[in-house]
Amino acid sequence: MDKVKIGTCWLDGCSGCHMSLLDLDEGIVGVLEKADIVFGPLVDAQEWPEGVDVALIEGAVSSQDDLDLALTARERSKIVVALGDCAVTGNVPSMRNGIPTRKLLERVYVEGATEGRGVPTDGVPALLKQAEPLHSAIKVDVHVPGCPPKPDAILFVVGALLEGRMPDLGSKLRFG
Ligand code: SF4
Repeated sequence: MDKVKIGTCWLDGCSGCHMSLLDLDEGIVGVLEKADIVFGPLVDAQEWPEGVDVALIEGAVSSQDDLDLALTARERSKIVVALGDCAVTGNVPSMRNGIPTRKLLERVYVEGATEGRGVPTDGVPALLKQAEPLHSAIKVDVHVPGCPPKPDAILFVVGALLEGRMPDLGSKLRFG
């Protein structure tokens, strides 16, 4: 039987949700018996591949690069999971939303700089006006809240998806 293909990525997040994913401990062995991780920080692929079964996406959509990756992942994946509060609600990244982007960048890179003052333009993804939850940009099939989500909630969701079922998080829901 073909293994399920899992892709993971983080957009505007702190990587804490991926740390929680690694915290599955021995649960990861059961996952890897049924699935291959074909994209993400743990593997070497440079581009989100075609034919992914389950996409686990951490972080809010804050930059043009985030948006492009989210759109590609959606187009090439059957099931998209918003992993963690930043992806589910915008959470920490959305705290900047009340401040105009230009003003925010100048505060950090000009007023707040002690040397090399100037808003960077080379090699830095353009910020969108707002940091938005994932469902603002693409269709999301499963939301897994938590900052980060508990490993047992992640295992519950991934386990159900590997068996071809949509998970019902019910009492496992927890924000923050
Ligand atoms: S939900 Fe929490 S742990 Fe996950 S990326 Fe956001 S701040 Fe980090």
